[in-house]
Amino acid sequence: MNLPIYMDHHATTPVDPRVLAAMLPYFRERFGNAASVTHSFGWAAQEAVEKARAQIAAVINADPKEIVFTSGATEADNLALKGLAYAARDKGNHIIVSAIEHNAVLDTARHLEQEGFSVTYLSVGADGIVDPDDVRRAITDRTIVVSIMTANNEIGTIQPIRAIGQVTRERGVFLHSDAAQALGRIPIDVNADSVDLLSLSAHKIYGPKGIGALFVRRSRPRPKLVPLIDGGRHEGGLRSGTLPVPLIVGFGEAARIACSEMTEESPRQSQLRDRLMQSITTGLDNVRVNGSLQSRLPNNLNLCIDGIDAEAILTAITDVALSSGAACSSAEIKPSHVLKAIGCTDQQAASSIRFGLGRRNTTEEVDYVAQRIIETVNTQRRLAPVRPRTP
Ligand SMILES: *Cc1c(COP(=O)(O)O)cnc(C)c1O
Repeated sequence: MNLPIYMDHHATTPVDPRVLAAMLPYFRERFGNAASVTHSFGWAAQEAVEKARAQIAAVINADPKEIVFTSGATEADNLALKGLAYAARDKGNHIIVSAIEHNAVLDTARHLEQEGFSVTYLSVGADGIVDPDDVRRAITDRTIVVSIMTANNEIGTIQPIRAIGQVTRERGVFLHSDAAQALGRIPIDVNADSVDLLSLSAHKIYGPKGIGALFVRRSRPRPKLVPLIDGGRHEGGLRSGTLPVPLIVGFGEAARIACSEMTEESPRQSQLRDRLMQSITTGLDNVRVNGSLQSRLPNNLNLCIDGIDAEAILTAITDVALSSGAACSSAEIKPSHVLKAIGCTDQQAASSIRFGLGRRNTTEEVDYVAQRIIETVNTQRRLAPVRPRTP
């Protein structure tokens, strides 16, 4: 077993060696600009981009023409929400998001609020799941878009996107979903789910950082978007800028691998997750799972361990990479808005630890991590029954 152990795969994942191998030629001899139409360097680059576009479209059941490359899921979320809002200004001014969205969606919504749009932040139950009936009730004649993530990055809860899609389709409102965490872990089908815009990120699926995509439905309905970046009219005018061909090739290969291995890898990781949970809850008392265990990504576990300071525990365990329930923005420690939304107190949020399993984690590693958590928590509880830091 190699130390340190990485178990923070919601934050990012290592690049798969097969992905790196696919990318390398496009840094070297195949360095052409995909927009160069007068020579073979450009043609090779363009061919590689179109192959990757088809690979990404295939894993969400979309058409390749519906894939717009962006710098990541953050930009895809911005393009979806701002793009739609600015384009639909005369028709509506209302946006619906869930309270547990990633900050890429929440901050974009707040930005639009500053500009005069009205935003409804839908609450979730203690299970961390959005009720489609709440979506139905929130929609007004002025609603432009509903944005509900496919799966949450902190507590891993999977949202009832298909049921929400039925509501938005029925009411003629666009549905956007951030699927950065869901891709490669659960099946995604934008048509079966009536999703009109979908955000993706390569570095969450063992691809490179700095590349992602926005799926934009092309017909029935076809959302109209105002681009956020103007220039050479790349990507159908929706996102100008020379395409990062090596990153795009890596993203395509990562998507292909993630989805072809999902049927084996997801059950394997959920068994490891269950083993981890079993060990920790057997070894420690007063431990609760944050959010629904049923409707959850196979690789996620988020535990509230009463009476501990999660930051201190994670700092003490130097040979395991985990994440706490506090979202560190700059130097300030703030309780996670997701944990607050499911009813955790500030103290419970500060006592929560997120485990994010990945492809390379083994049973041996899971057992080691469980032991390290148990012994460190026991020491902290015995020697220094510290109160978690709260703002
Ligand atoms: C990681 C993540 C993002 C941000 O993706 P980037 O590609 O790093 O911009 C957005 N949404 C969710 C749910 C994520 O997990």
